[in-house]
Amino acid sequence: VSETSIEWTRGSKGGPGYTLNPWLGCAKAHAGCTNCYAEKHQAVNMRKGGKVQWGEVWQGGQRVATSASTMARPFQWAREAAAADERRRVFCASLGDVLEVPDMPPFARLTADLREAVNRARAQMDRQRALLWEVIWGTSRMCPECGPLEEAEHDRDCDGPRHIGFDAPGLDWLLLTKRPENWALVPEHIRPLVWLGTSISDQRTADEWVPRLLAAEGFRYRFLSVEPLVGPVDLTRLLRVCPACDHVGPVGAGFVNCCPDGGAARRIDWVIVGGESGSKARPCNVEWVRSIVRQCREAGVPCFVKQLGAEPSVAANEAAGMRRRGTPGAWRLALNDPKGGDWAEWPEDLRVREFPP
Ligand code: SF4
Repeated sequence: VSETSIEWTRGSKGGPGYTLNPWLGCAKAHAGCTNCYAEKHQAVNMRKGGKVQWGEVWQGGQRVATSASTMARPFQWAREAAAADERRRVFCASLGDVLEVPDMPPFARLTADLREAVNRARAQMDRQRALLWEVIWGTSRMCPECGPLEEAEHDRDCDGPRHIGFDAPGLDWLLLTKRPENWALVPEHIRPLVWLGTSISDQRTADEWVPRLLAAEGFRYRFLSVEPLVGPVDLTRLLRVCPACDHVGPVGAGFVNCCPDGGAARRIDWVIVGGESGSKARPCNVEWVRSIVRQCREAGVPCFVKQLGAEPSVAANEAAGMRRRGTPGAWRLALNDPKGGDWAEWPEDLRVREFPP
């Protein structure tokens, strides 16, 4: 739980963004998890005598609950956002997956002890999730006039509204998960307060995970974190909106025909894209990023280019005009920022940082 420098969590007026982790620990879900920074972070802590064993619970992985006092910090953030008259964003979770439900072991490995360990972890995560829903609900009920979060504290003389609106100061809750199929774990009354996002990294993860996110209903926004981008991704089928009924139509995912569910709109509202950083970063071709920006533009979806990554590769014609390293045929942009996160160093057409309304 902390302030974060992640660019897409910046407040609407440039104030700080935040991260909140109801627990620490996770198990890998897809290609984007290969170099999980959260796992590395915890591995360092383990060596220091520290914290959380990563991986499946039945294989010894841990989920360590965050304290109640830490979980209460967002109330302070909400007050500060109100004082600064801006909307600020909370990224949840950065060191785990808030919609994870730990798997049971395969039948051949199932023992009473392992079943109990998994059930214990599930119960603990359910309790932490319930606490998170209370926090999201509580921080959304703040009076913009006199500030109190609880009805009981509200100044009797204040005529201000009890419920903060999306055009009023407060917190936006961004739940980023690799398990969007578990969206129903978020209670119905919480969903309008939440931006639900999933991460994809290549075409395979896009084809499998985007339809799972599109199935989620009742959320404020659905968003994609296309990061780390490790291959070209064609999102056109997944972002396309039917001009007749506003219906998105990913072929082969149950939305082949227009209006199969009576015309309810299903669309992606925001896309974040970025290359991988860190010592084992996989190359990210600048052209793949450019393609995502173009696809978003054509579909009318706001796009946020976060970073080009530690190994941004470029074609020969683009490399010719840029500071570069490597060899012909395998040029990399030579950037000063180790994550490729300083947009002053990027090709001009990639300097795109948009948000949903
Ligand atoms: S889902 Fe996120 S936190 Fe969990 S292993 Fe994958 S990258 Fe790491």
